[in-house]
Amino acid sequence: MSDYDTVPAAVEGEDEIPADHPRYQDLLTRHRIEEGVEKGITHLQGMHAEGRGSAFDYLLGEETIPSADEAERAAAAHLLLADEPVLSINGNVAALVPGESVDLAEAVGADLEINLFNRTPERMTAIADHLRAHGASGIKGLEADARIPGLDHERAKVDADGIYGADVVVVPLEDGDRAEALDAMGKTEIVVDLNPLSRSAQVADVPIVDNVIRAVPNVAAHARELSDADEATLRGVVDAFDPDVALESAEARIRAGDLVEE
Ligand code: ATP
Ligand code: MG
Repeated sequence: MSDYDTVPAAVEGEDEIPADHPRYQDLLTRHRIEEGVEKGITHLQGMHAEGRGSAFDYLLGEETIPSADEAERAAAAHLLLADEPVLSINGNVAALVPGESVDLAEAVGADLEINLFNRTPERMTAIADHLRAHGASGIKGLEADARIPGLDHERAKVDADGIYGADVVVVPLEDGDRAEALDAMGKTEIVVDLNPLSRSAQVADVPIVDNVIRAVPNVAAHARELSDADEATLRGVVDAFDPDVALESAEARIRAGDLVEE
């Protein structure tokens, strides 16, 4: 029997989750999503998405595998080379990594755009307020004055000077249809998705198979480390990255990886 059988399924605060629990990051992400639902930031469907992700993260041993770290470095190089980079924020991302997203946007000079699958004015406002409480300013997505071609009306809404005009977009936990539509628009797409077989990961220029709570801060760390690099060096990092190799390596790790000790 483990020492942790008494960990309650729902805790009142993050500090009640024992940091040395073998499934600490799962308990933490679950707790943040629950809080997000309670605050009106995250749709109940976000809990299902989280559940799918957590199964993959269990098999990865809740760690950033080397191929994901390479993808995170390539993502940082793409973002530093971009003219108009944008980070797309949905209800799960807002609940899981609000401050970390603001920090990444600052590190690479990107805008944050709220982009929801289940878009309501109340959730848009709740997420904008939540991001502002974590230091964000100039949040995009509220105007919704442009449309992504090939998607139905609500799913297609974006800002003309945000995702619509962006050259590089980071789309964590994106649904497959929208990831495909952004790809068809010719964007350089950086996807964070724990499922290497997800359509979103499959269409990405840079698929990051890692938990968003590890991925976003690690892309920011790589960006800071590369901030003095010249353009040729950044192009070298981008060109050395192969999305197919990264996806294969993640899938191999998930299928064959050793489970963390109970
Ligand atoms: P589709 O076929 O449209 O891509 P899907 O099964 O991928 O559908 P979605 O709800 O659109 O479902 O996407 C959720 C994705 O996000 C899943 O692939 C899941 O593994 C991944 N995911 C969930 N939580 C996290 C997380 N914390 N970090 C990274 N990826 C996550
Ligand atoms: Mg998917």
